[in-house]
Amino acid sequence: MTIRTRFAPSPTGYLHVGGARTALFSWLYARKHGGQFILRIEDTDLERSTAESVDAILEGMTWLGLEYDEGPFYQTHRFDRYKEVITQLLDQGDAYHCYCSKQELDDMREQQRANKEKPRYDGRCRHVTTPKGGVQPIVRFKNPIEGSVVVSDVVKGNIEFQNSELDDLVIARSDGSPTYNLTVVVDDLDMGLTHVIRGDDHLNNTPRQINIFKALGADVPVFGHLPMILGDDGARLSKRHGAVSVMSYRDEGYLPEALLNYLVRLGWSHGDQELFTIDEMIALFDITDVNKSASAFNTDKLLWINQHYIKTSAPEHIARHLSWHMGQLGIDPATGPELTKVVVLQQERAKTLVEMAANSHYFYKDVQEYNAKAAKKNLTIVTADILEDMYGRLAALPEWLAEPIHTLIKECSVEREVGMGKVAQPIRVAITGNTISPPLDSTLELLGSERTLAAIRSAIEWIKDQA
Ligand code: GLU
Repeated sequence: MTIRTRFAPSPTGYLHVGGARTALFSWLYARKHGGQFILRIEDTDLERSTAESVDAILEGMTWLGLEYDEGPFYQTHRFDRYKEVITQLLDQGDAYHCYCSKQELDDMREQQRANKEKPRYDGRCRHVTTPKGGVQPIVRFKNPIEGSVVVSDVVKGNIEFQNSELDDLVIARSDGSPTYNLTVVVDDLDMGLTHVIRGDDHLNNTPRQINIFKALGADVPVFGHLPMILGDDGARLSKRHGAVSVMSYRDEGYLPEALLNYLVRLGWSHGDQELFTIDEMIALFDITDVNKSASAFNTDKLLWINQHYIKTSAPEHIARHLSWHMGQLGIDPATGPELTKVVVLQQERAKTLVEMAANSHYFYKDVQEYNAKAAKKNLTIVTADILEDMYGRLAALPEWLAEPIHTLIKECSVEREVGMGKVAQPIRVAITGNTISPPLDSTLELLGSERTLAAIRSAIEWIKDQA
C-alpha cells in the first residue's frame, strides 16, 4: 500500500503555525514511507475564502519547502462530483430531503432544552416522501440510529462515539452547495488518502465522516488527530501571543528549517534530541509517537534553534535567505561584496537574519549617520589625527588583505603608544556608523580599499564640521 496523506487548509487567512505543523507531520509521514503528500484547498465557504489567502498558503508551503506531489486541488472545482455523491446517497436511501424551516428547528431545540435533552435534529423529515411546496429543501445524511462508531486514532487511541449522539447532519444546503463533512469525505475517498492527519479540533466530525465513508461502501482511512498548540499562558495559540503566521517568521528573520525543526518538536519527540535536520526528521518521525496532549509554543527555544542553523548552515544557503532581507532594507546585494562572504563574517554573531541584515548594510551602503554615542566617544579631534594617519597607511598598502591591514593597525598603535582599540574603534565607527562589527581587519578586507578610504575620509570631514 502506498501511503497518501494530505494537508487541507481552508483559505480564510494566512498559513498559521498550527496549520504548518499539521502539514509538516502529514508531509513527514508520507516522505518517511515513500508515499505521496497532497495539497487540497478547502474553499467551499465562498464568503470566507479569498484568493489572497490561497496565495498566502501556497507561499508559506513553498517557503517551508513542504513540496506536494499532487495539487493544489480546489474544492470549488469539484462541485459536480459532490452533487453526484449527494444524489447517490439520496438514491440509495442514506440521505433525505429536509423541509424544516428555521422556526421549526428553533422550536425543536427549545422543546428539547425544556425537556433537559441534548439539542439535536430529531429526524422528523426522514419519512417525508412528498416535497413540501415552495420550500427549497436541504439534504441530511441518515446517520445510523443504533450502535457506535470507533475512531481508531493513531495519536489518541480508540475513541468510541454512540450513534445516538450524532444527529443527521446537513450534507447539502438549500442552494444545493455541499457542506464541509461531505466534501472532505468525497475528496479523501477520491484522492485515495490512506491517512488523515489533522488538528484535533476536527475530532468530533470524524465519527460522522466515518459513517459517510461506510455508506459509500468505502474503506475508512487511518486517522491521526494532533493536539493543539498553546501559547505560554496555556491558552490556545493565537495572535495575541505574537506572530502566528508562518510568513511573519520569515519576516522576523527565521530560517525555514529552524521553524520546521521547532514545529516538529511540538507534540513529537525522539529522546531528548532537540535539533533535527530534515533528513533526520524524515527518518525518525512516526505519527504513533505524537503526544496525546497539547504542547506549548516557546519563542526563546525557536530563537535558539534559529541561531544554531545560522551558525552551522552553508553560507551560500544563508546568503540566499539573507538576500531577501537585504532587499527589505532597500539594499541590492549586487552593489557590494559577495553576500556569502558577508555571511561567513556574520554567522557567529546573529540570532536572526533581520539582525544580520541590519548589521551588514554598511557593506553595500555608505554610512548616512553615526550613532550619537559612538561618534561622541570615537570621532573626536584626537581621533581625527589617528584616522588621518591610518588613511595614509591604508592608502599605501600594496595588498588589501586582512593580515597586512591588521599589521598596519598594530604598527600605528605601537608608534602612537596607544592601545589597538584606540586606532581600531574610530575606523569601525567610520565604516559602520556604530561600534559593533566582525573583526575589523576582515571587515575592511571585504569592504575593499575604495569604500574604506572614502568612509575614513568622510569621518574626518564630519569631525572637522563638528568642530
Ligand atoms: N479545511 C479544514 C481546516 O482548515 C481541515 C479539514 C481536514 O483536515 O479534514 O480546518
